[in-house]
Amino acid sequence: MRRLFDQPTGRKMEGQAAQRPAFAGKAHDPELSSSRWQAVRAAQLGAFPICEVCGKRAAEEVHHILPRAHGGDTFDPGNLASVCAECHGKLPAMYKRGVLTPDALAGLLAARRFANG
Ligand SMILES: [Zn+2]
Repeated sequence: MRRLFDQPTGRKMEGQAAQRPAFAGKAHDPELSSSRWQAVRAAQLGAFPICEVCGKRAAEEVHHILPRAHGGDTFDPGNLASVCAECHGKLPAMYKRGVLTPDALAGLLAARRFANG
């Protein structure tokens, strides 16, 4: 991918998200510090501002349904879910225990989005 910034850390995230360590990720991930990701992330949170897992809290993070470490696409909107920090924190354990799979989550989100128009 073409680099858009010369600075080693790229552009910082705005607001409170910038104050937290990256979710379960490695520091200075070039894709997650890219302007492309910032745009995709903002579009996802704009389209789905409420957590798509609990349906209650405001979404403040974007989850990769099929984890990037497992080959999930970073920028494909079809691989993204708006989540609150609490739900985002629980998802890896749910995947690990087999309580939830990426396919099941994708199906759940598709059904909810369809139902909500
Ligand atoms: Zn939630």
